[in-house]
Amino acid sequence: MCGGPTLSQPSFLPPSDPRANYLAHQREIDEAVAGVLRGGAYILGREVASFEAEFARYLGVPHAIGVGSGTDAIHLALRACGIGPGDEVITVSHTAVGTIVGIESAGATAVLVDIDRDTRTMDPGTLGAALSPRTRAVLPVHLYGHPAALEEIGAFARERGLFLVEDCAQAAGALCRDRRIGSWGDIAAFSFYPTKNLGALGDGGAVITSRPDLAERLRMLREYGWRQRYVSEIPGVNSRLDELQAAILRVKLRHLDAENARRRSLAGFYLEELAESGLTLPWSRPEVVHVYHQFVPGHPRRDALRAALRSRGVGTLVHYPVPVHRQPAYRDRVRVAGGMERTEAAASAVLSLPLFPELRREDVERVCVSIRDWARREPAS
Ligand SMILES: *Cc1c(COP(=O)(O)O)cnc(C)c1O
Repeated sequence: MCGGPTLSQPSFLPPSDPRANYLAHQREIDEAVAGVLRGGAYILGREVASFEAEFARYLGVPHAIGVGSGTDAIHLALRACGIGPGDEVITVSHTAVGTIVGIESAGATAVLVDIDRDTRTMDPGTLGAALSPRTRAVLPVHLYGHPAALEEIGAFARERGLFLVEDCAQAAGALCRDRRIGSWGDIAAFSFYPTKNLGALGDGGAVITSRPDLAERLRMLREYGWRQRYVSEIPGVNSRLDELQAAILRVKLRHLDAENARRRSLAGFYLEELAESGLTLPWSRPEVVHVYHQFVPGHPRRDALRAALRSRGVGTLVHYPVPVHRQPAYRDRVRVAGGMERTEAAASAVLSLPLFPELRREDVERVCVSIRDWARREPAS
């Protein structure tokens, strides 16, 4: 007997599936990749320049600068603003650790605040207590694809002469009051990690800005501080988007709006199917377009629910189980400003269900049936 899957066992449903997205655009991507391979320019050539122009136009900002990753995009965005050792950057503890790595790579200290209970993004009410004479920037994260409260956070930063730096890694294409996220801040960082809404087939990132001075510094910083080849005017790094990834991203960008619409439609289906399930469901502010990088309900018995789904072949993830201020590497290095009750509550309750553009409605239904079955059998707590 061989141990392959049988008809009675539906296939494993992954939480995300970048390979399915490649297959959905295979012909276009294969052509784009072959074009680069035959072209002979592999670093900072025509594909990167074209992608930068197309991505900037898509976001409605003048400048996009491709870099090596989303973490580098945060690091270099801060350095372009002149932020470094001795400076503080206010951000959230409920985020990908890349946000913090970017801040620390610039040499700055991360000051962590609590989140809003409903949107799970930065609570603007916490910012006053986080200020110090060293504060230079406020860095909200558009977590799970939901824009942070940009109007209030932006006003707070502007009134105090702080930079507004957006972490857009999870929210490519999202809107707040009909304006793309990324265009609200002085400068913004994107990640093209393969599972992101706009995903490359490898690492990649970009920095977005309307300010020509910041754009110019960024172009120098990403390549040894060069303005002119082989002459380093400022200390820089090597963090370049490569031609292959840029060519792939140009294909993917053409499909981003349609794929975000698909994510929103699948999220709507989840919301309907889970309405009576007893889970806390994601909520979005009426003035935003949420692009559902993740669909993240909550439940106090999250780990039991996760195990039950796993046993039925449904893969889930937890974004994120340990808040940054509790991580071994960071608990003694970051400054915590105010309480972290909502961050801690989220870390113990959140569960990311499968969501990607190629997911079928039947798949969502299968996940929801499993959740409802589990919830019915759970003793009421
Ligand atoms: C993915 C991510 C990053 C880091 O991006 P990389 O490309 O993986 O370096 C930073 N912040 C957030 C919120 C992310 O989701």
